[in-house]
Amino acid sequence: MTYDPNNIFAKILAGNLPCHRVYEDEHNLAFMDVMPQADGHTLVIPKRGSRNILDADPEVIGSLMAVVQKIARASQKAFAADGVMIQQFNEAAAGQTVFHLHIHVLPRMTGVPLRPHTGKMADQTVLARHAEMIRSVL
Ligand code: AMP
Repeated sequence: MTYDPNNIFAKILAGNLPCHRVYEDEHNLAFMDVMPQADGHTLVIPKRGSRNILDADPEVIGSLMAVVQKIARASQKAFAADGVMIQQFNEAAAGQTVFHLHIHVLPRMTGVPLRPHTGKMADQTVLARHAEMIRSVL
């Protein structure tokens, strides 16, 4: 399995596709998932092209996880969440659909189930507002 540089997240990194940006540094980018399974569902990705955790350089993972923690803390605060779920899938058999390493960060409320994937994009205004809520507490 090799990294395909034409994947959708590589296009976001190249500025060829839009995203609702939450955080960016030299090595990583965090943005809203367009089909959020919970309010505030954010994706954190490394800028270096890696297919998933199986081929990524440990240094890339280390830097990425520090940002995951930063986003988890901020989204817990922004959404007054009871908990924060971190998810990550490797290869199609494990549920991966976009083949650029990414970590899901989902604020969770007690007793509120995740929304199922409907294949429908969320309202852009709502995504923009949620991105701003997280950015404002970073
Ligand atoms: P997975 O590969 O299963 O870990 O999930 C890929 C995630 O990327 C899904 O939750 C999608 O909703 C999300 N996604 C797909 N395309 C975009 C996009 N253009 N911008 C933001 N999120 C996306």
